Amino acid sequence: MRNIAIVGGGQSGLQLALGLLQNDCKVTVVSNRTPEQIHDGRVSSSQFMFHDSLQNERDLGINFWEKKCPITEGIAFTIPGPNKTKALFWEAKLDGYGQSVDQRVKFAGWMKEFAKRGGDLVIKDAGPQDVDQFSKSHDLVIVAAGKGELNRMFERDAEKSPYDQPMRALALTYVKNMVPRKPFTAVSFNLVPGVGEYFVFPALTTTGSCEIMVFEGVPGGPMDCWHDVKTPEQHLAKSKWILETFMPLEADRCHNVELTDDNGVLAGRFPPTVRKPICKLPSGGLALGIADVVVTNDPTTGQGSNTASKAAAIYLQQILKRANKPFDAEWMQQTFDMFWDYAQWVVDWTNSLLIPPAPQILQLMGAASQIPPLASKIANGFNNPPDYSPWWFDPAEADKLIKHVSAAAV
Ligand SMILES: Cc1cc2nc3c(=O)[nH]c(=O)nc-3n(C[C@H](O)[C@H](O)[C@H](O)COP(=O)(O)OP(=O)(O)OC[C@H]3O[C@@H](n4cnc5c(N)ncnc54)[C@H](O)[C@@H]3O)c2cc1C
Repeated sequence: MRNIAIVGGGQSGLQLALGLLQNDCKVTVVSNRTPEQIHDGRVSSSQFMFHDSLQNERDLGINFWEKKCPITEGIAFTIPGPNKTKALFWEAKLDGYGQSVDQRVKFAGWMKEFAKRGGDLVIKDAGPQDVDQFSKSHDLVIVAAGKGELNRMFERDAEKSPYDQPMRALALTYVKNMVPRKPFTAVSFNLVPGVGEYFVFPALTTTGSCEIMVFEGVPGGPMDCWHDVKTPEQHLAKSKWILETFMPLEADRCHNVELTDDNGVLAGRFPPTVRKPICKLPSGGLALGIADVVVTNDPTTGQGSNTASKAAAIYLQQILKRANKPFDAEWMQQTFDMFWDYAQWVVDWTNSLLIPPAPQILQLMGAASQIPPLASKIANGFNNPPDYSPWWFDPAEADKLIKHVSAAAV
């Protein structure tokens, strides 16, 4: 029986751990927080997940909140114009719905389930020496500690990380009593050039259904405005100020909003970073990084949890395929490379939206407002970002696609 240690109990760590348990592995998960601390603590994400990632959870039978969680049917994109007009707008349905289950609910629930199913849950703020220790007692150590400090054990990959500074000032505001979007539920994405982005969608939190507001301010710009916010009330007031000032159509949905709870707010920033996947440990052992530890994206495209889920699915298959052979450096690199085949497109696409957009991106977004099948293609790419290649990145290919979808739409 394989004996596997996973340091970090979040989207990738717990999904992988539950999958391994079902396949008769012995699994230790180390978490720096108890399920209760997670449930009663601060929000950490907006965690919107698209169909294929949700399917990974269904496949393992761990989609415990699917029936309770509101569904999101599509994506809408707006560049606001003057006086409550829209300078650019498109909307499209997703082929399969998306959902967001507050990580406080999900991780606390999954952790309890893991322990109930016989997993070894260790509550500890693990340090590098613990990782080293686990490499001696277990066949494989996976570090799944997200953006926590432990990821510094893994060397930054400068070639794959074009930015060394945070590219957005981030904030989350979990609210209730928002006017629902019409005609269908959607991730309503708003872009104010030079200022930043705002997106909002339905979710399930600790107190029931809610809407999650996500703010992405260009550093130094007017939406980079959270430094003097000290209380949850001030955070909500600042959120409403941003909407009234830059996205008044969205503000109209928010006259009666209230926070879901005092912990339903977050502000921070981090640089998008890719790291090398294998860490050599002092005792000679190795640890393999997964998800945010090795590929941290800015949340502007809502991909981190999705990518974590996909990483966990790939790592699970690779571990099971390995049977009784050792988890050596070659296997670790191959496993990461399989994940990178997918994740590189998430990184390139997300990074392309953190700088002033290339001409073909502007052309595609403009054309999508006129050609519904193109809007649908862009919306559904969120579910599988490799689908954006090559046309998102190449002017000639973008042109070809626009001509093709226009001809087909006639
Ligand atoms: C503002 C914001 C909005 C976001 N919105 C979205 C979105 O809409 N859609 C989306 O897909 N993604 C989103 N993300 C990203 C997403 O939440 C993460 O990418 C995803 O959770 C990463 O999964 P993970 O398994 O790598 O780490 P996590 O899910 O972060 O889990 C890591 C776990 O490890 C634990 N840990 C950390 N250090 C230690 C330690 N030393 N010892 C033990 N345990 C430790 C942590 O407590 C945590 O529970 C957002 C992120 C942010 C910041």
